[in-house]
Amino acid sequence: MTHPTANTPAPSPCDLIIKADVVVTQDDARRILTDAGVAIKDGLVLDIGSYASMETGYCPAQRLDLSGKMLMPGLVNGHTHLPMTLLRGVADDLPLMEWLESHIWPVEAHLTDELITIGAQIGCAEFIRTGCTSFLNGYFHEHLTGNAVADCGLRAVLGEGFFSFPSPMFKTAEDCWQTLRGLNRQFETHSRVRTAITPHAAFTVMPEELIASFELAEELDIPWQIHLAESPMETAVCLDKYGKRPIELLHHHGLLTKRTTLHHCVDVTDEEIEILADSGVNVVHNPVSNLKLCSGISPVQKMLDAGVMVGLGTDGASSNNQLNMFRDMGLAALVGKVRHEDASAVNAQSALDMATRNSAHCLGWPELGRIEKGCPADMIALDLAYPNLMPVFNYVSHAVYGATGMEVCMTMVGGEVLYLYGDFKTIDINLLRTNALQASDWVHSVAER
Ligand SMILES: [Zn+2]
Repeated sequence: MTHPTANTPAPSPCDLIIKADVVVTQDDARRILTDAGVAIKDGLVLDIGSYASMETGYCPAQRLDLSGKMLMPGLVNGHTHLPMTLLRGVADDLPLMEWLESHIWPVEAHLTDELITIGAQIGCAEFIRTGCTSFLNGYFHEHLTGNAVADCGLRAVLGEGFFSFPSPMFKTAEDCWQTLRGLNRQFETHSRVRTAITPHAAFTVMPEELIASFELAEELDIPWQIHLAESPMETAVCLDKYGKRPIELLHHHGLLTKRTTLHHCVDVTDEEIEILADSGVNVVHNPVSNLKLCSGISPVQKMLDAGVMVGLGTDGASSNNQLNMFRDMGLAALVGKVRHEDASAVNAQSALDMATRNSAHCLGWPELGRIEKGCPADMIALDLAYPNLMPVFNYVSHAVYGATGMEVCMTMVGGEVLYLYGDFKTIDINLLRTNALQASDWVHSVAER
């Protein structure tokens, strides 16, 4: 044991030191450290550097040896509808409106609190298993998803979805605003759960209600998110109703701001990309959902080149059908090349940035998606012993093109380990499976009515 002398300060106490073969930091310089260590205190990254320097500088309460593993930031899912895991695979291979009107909405009309909770818990388990540590959600009864997230240790921004009024959920706009205020109050002091204002889309919510909801987002100082320009069908409906394309419509009403996150942006023109860039909005790309519903492929590289902040999301499990950000990350890079007829488009580093740092902006939580001093200790480890990750030339390439998500062997949020080598620390996975089987029986019975 070495004793501190006048020249060597005593090691500072910390909660945990992690040792890893490599750390992909995703910091501003995109540093990749080998033989690395990360010191964690009070849920934040206290320091990062060589493992030897961490051991010299800090005196940890615990150590986590991740030799043979690659540490990287937890992936940030910019767009999902968590409880829709309940409807995973209930109807596939259909166009958007037929899928929604004939299969999804009829079942959703009968969902109970218990079922929404089970759906949210299934989604949380899938995120933890596949290395997603935070997400931006939109669904109904969001307090239930909030409780599931609070219990399992993940981090989320929750948006209670609404359509024009009266709707099955809200008779009047005032009812809706009261619910949104209540949700915001419930999680106001929670360290891992925040809220957002979430109108469904420009063709399902009247402009005056979009504007009123944006004013509420400003008053509460929280993000405002909406599905926008998802498909040519949506553009046609907006043109017919308002004489404007979706992005034009929101721009006209002053709703494109830094507070705004737009989901999809598939059907956009070059002029609209300039508007998006100038306004500072955030866009979430959902490649798997867009492919599955045949909505088209978003011009992501054009948006990135113009300076638009583009994050990445899975969308709900009924239009993906996974909540696995690794699959969306790889596909974002692949379909980006086809969309732009350029093999260098949406390169691996861009795809990883979208799934981490950029998505963090879409959540209005920019300190996420990176392993950096002072930032929340949300990180995951990939086991480099998987054959599909051998040998290693480029760690970022492996994360985007090589990994499937099943290589995730450790998931941590705010310094708390939620999953380690097959063990879910905060979820009873056997009980969840039993509940999921019962839920699928219920969905079958409703779908067949
Ligand atoms: Zn969606």
